[in-house]
This record gives sequence, C-alpha cells and structure tokens, in this order.
Amino acid sequence: MNNQEDKFKKVISHAKEYGYIFQSSEIYDGLSAVYDYAQNGVELKNNIRNYWWKAMVQMHENIVGLDTAIFMHPTTWKASGHVDAFNDPLIDNKDSKKRYRADVLIEDYAEKLNLKAKKEIAKAAKRFGDAFNEEEFIKTNPRVVKYLAKRDEVLKRMARSLENEDLADVKKLIEELEIACPVSGSRNWTDVKQFNLMFGTKLGASADSAMDLYLRPETAQGIFVNFSNVQKTGRMKIPFGIAQTGKAFRNEIVARQFIFRMREFEQMEMQFFVRPGEELKWYEYWKEKRLNWHLSLGLGKENYRFHDHEKMAHYANAASDIEFNFPFGFKELEGIHSRTDFDLKAHEEHSGKKLQYFDHEVNKSYVPYVIETSIGLDRMFLAVFSTALQNEVLEDGSERIVLKLPVILAPTKAAILPLVKKDGLPEIARKIIEDLKYDFNVIYDEKDAIGRRYRRQDAVGTPFCITVDHETKNDETVTIRYRDSMEQKRVKIKELKAIISKEVSMGDWLHKMELHTNYKT
Ligand code: ATP
Repeated sequence: MNNQEDKFKKVISHAKEYGYIFQSSEIYDGLSAVYDYAQNGVELKNNIRNYWWKAMVQMHENIVGLDTAIFMHPTTWKASGHVDAFNDPLIDNKDSKKRYRADVLIEDYAEKLNLKAKKEIAKAAKRFGDAFNEEEFIKTNPRVVKYLAKRDEVLKRMARSLENEDLADVKKLIEELEIACPVSGSRNWTDVKQFNLMFGTKLGASADSAMDLYLRPETAQGIFVNFSNVQKTGRMKIPFGIAQTGKAFRNEIVARQFIFRMREFEQMEMQFFVRPGEELKWYEYWKEKRLNWHLSLGLGKENYRFHDHEKMAHYANAASDIEFNFPFGFKELEGIHSRTDFDLKAHEEHSGKKLQYFDHEVNKSYVPYVIETSIGLDRMFLAVFSTALQNEVLEDGSERIVLKLPVILAPTKAAILPLVKKDGLPEIARKIIEDLKYDFNVIYDEKDAIGRRYRRQDAVGTPFCITVDHETKNDETVTIRYRDSMEQKRVKIKELKAIISKEVSMGDWLHKMELHTNYKT
C-alpha cells in the first residue's frame, strides 16, 4: 500500500471510529456511495455550512438565501439541458466487469504524466539548490517538455472528442494510450456509451396519471426559476446574488472515493446576476473571493490550485475549478463558472415567462448574466477532515493522533474534565458545563486517567480541555489545555467563556478573511 492509500484508509476508519461518518444502512451491508453523518460529523458539517452561509449571505448586503424543493417541475430539467446532456461517458472492462468513466481514466493518465514532470522538477531543484530556475527548467528540460506536451495533447484530444460527441475516438484514445483496468489489468474494453446521471421517480398515486420527476442533480435550477420572485420581492438591484445549500442526487457511474463522490450529496451554490458584458470581471472577483474563503480556514495554501477548464460546458464562457489536495491527489472541490444568460434564457423559452431585469442605470431590460460558485459540502468536509487528521511524534518519542480541525468548525469546543471522580470535582465540572452550554457545544468526561482523556479529545478534534483539580476548590481556577500546542494555562473559571468565545468566533475569522482580500471591482 502506498502512503496516499494508507492515509486515505486511516481517514475513513478514523471518521467511523470517532463518530463522524457511517456507511448508510450499514447493518444491511451498506448502500454504495451513500453515507450518514454521525454525531460529530453532523456538527462539523453544520459548522462548515454555517461558515459558508455567513461568508456569502450575512457578509453581503446584495446576496440573499433561498431553500427550494428537491422536486421541481420536470420541464426545468429539459430547459436546463440535464435531460439531454447530463451524461457521463462510461466504459466497461469486459474482464473485471468494472465500470469506469472514460474521461476519468484519461484524466488519471494525464495526471500521471504531470506527476512524472513534477518528479523531474523536484529532483533538479534538489540538485541545483538555490541556483535552480524552475521556469527555465520546465521550458528546456527535454523530459519535462515531453511529459507536459503529451499531457496537454491527451487532454485536448479528449476535450475535442467529447465536445463533438465522438465517443469512438474516446475509446480509441484509451486504446492508444494502452490504459488498463486497475482491477483486472486488462485492456479489453467495451465501447464508450453516454449515461444520464439523473434519478427518476414518480409523483402521484395512479400509474396513468403519475408524473415523471427527477431528483434534482444540482441546487442551482431552484435559484434560476425563482430569479424574478426574489428580484421583485427583495427589490434586488443588479449585481446581486442568491445562495442556497441543499441535497442533490446523481447516479454516479463510479463512486469509490468515500464521500468525495456520492450518489446523494449536498451542494452550497450561489448564483450572482450581473449586467451582460461585466461577467468576466465578476468571474475574477468570485475566483479570488472563494479562494480567500478557503485560505481563511488555514488548511495550507499549497493544498489548493485553480484548474481553468479547457472544455467548457455548453453554457459557460469561462470556468475554473478550485482543486484540493485530497488524500488521493488534487481533485475538484469547487467550481466557479461564468454561465452567461444560458439558464435564464432557457427557462424563459420553456416557461413563456419573462426572466428579465430592468436596469434603470442603462434604461433597458435584459436577461442577466450569471457567475456561479458551487461547492460540494461533503467534499469540503473531506478536505477539512483529511487535512486535520495528523499523526504527531512528540518530544518524548511517543505518538499522538490529533484532529486539528479549525476551531470554528470543531464539533465540540471544550471538554470539561474533573481530575478525579470524587472530592466534589465532578460537581464543579458540571457547574462549568451549565455555564458554558448556552454558548458552545461542551462535553463532560470523567472516565480514565487524565492523559488518556486528553488523547481522546485530541483524536476527536476538541480544541480545549478544561481540567478541574483540587486547586480549583481553593482559588476557582482551572487548567485549560490547547489541542494543537498542548500548552496548558491556569485561568479563572469566570474567564473561560471569554477565552473560548474569542477563539471560536466566526466573526473574527471572517474579518481576517476580508482583510486579506484585495480584489477591486
Ligand atoms: P466532477 O467532475 O467531480 O463529477 P462536477 O464538475 O460534475 O464534478 P459540478 O456539477 O460542477 O461538479 O458540481 C459542483 C460541486 O458539487 C463540485 O465541485 C463538487 O464539490 C460537488 N459534487 C459534484 N458531484 C458530487 C458527488 N457525486 N459527490 C459529492 N460532491 C459532488
């Protein structure tokens, strides 16, 4: 097992062991690519959603929220293009009987070339030390040039074939690159076919009058169809945004990366309506803003990169992904798309209703253009959780497993621990809980030696441990231990609330995020 696989396995087992994520209906052996958030997972997920919501809705006077239904009139999906074009190209391996996304097989191949180039660059950087000129090296080293050129050529050809619906060429490319099935190792492939990812269901009791419906594959369409409702009732002026979070459903062909690719998942989306012609300015603005939101969580700048799309969806005139360094490599975490007026126009055509905006400044009506930011809540959860999970070797040589979650996202903010189960210490600890529980999630733990309790809280990600000992009875002080530094301080009980508040205030974190943003519009 390589390091990455090993790390990923640890993430999955830690998530279960510490009450973050369970497989859905596990007692029936689970359901593929469907997961349940457990007692700690639900808190972490709520906190991520909340931090996103505050950054998008609370912080912007011109962005409002919405919570639309999962079921929508079926024509919605005709208009949006999902009925005809929400397909993935699939391919089966005849020996292993495993099914793959043809584009993912090719992208993985391209990523391998990328990694080879990176290895060469890293080797040279080591060899040349300070004298190393990376830019020059990438341009001139024959091996790097070859790998990168091949990578670009492969991706370009795939993009072109998919664009032209030339599935035979996609298969040909897989054959030419000699891509083998990771399970059987064989190159015995079926033809590439398109597969629609929407789940269908029926509304109504009797078979003849029932209406065919879909479970929404994205939350965005609920925003588009309500554009005029929100604009008029909220008296919104362009530019303005509508945000929503909620479940989406996709019958994914390959779903084997834990909560990275699920069949039922949650999105956090925002559609920003702008004047036609101004969309690229706002596209840049949102790219920067969204990246800043991510960086504010402190998961490490090096773990993010933009990937500008070569192949654009039919509705977009610019698109970029924020990719994150997951335990299995860099993959899409969030998409930022300039969707033109495609969606609103399509809904105008299919509904016969006007979805326009009268712009007093320019004295005319138009269909606004849209910039979309769309992030998977579950993928964000995985990004946070997998980066936070660390194995630390301490000064004395012992190891500890610690979940260094950003404090604002941690499920439980403090554990209150009486040093012993007697002498009135549990009662004092309970009283502290009574004081703090109105403001924070706090828990009580009296089982096992104090060291073991600290380790338990480290592993579950609790940022503060508060220990009540015999001294507490004399001077009303306790020990506060910080999860990340393991530093311990003696503080007054009555100061606890202020100390914790200061550290876990989302407001302070949002403030810092704004200070680091230097966009101009
Ligand atoms: P991918 O190429 O990985 O399938 P996508 O480009 O189809 O993703 P979008 O349609 O742009 O994804 O959806 C926006 C966001 O929703 C993605 O950036 C991702 O975070 C999340 N998302 C999409 N599909 C899934 C899924 N099956 N499971 C979990 N999150 C998902």
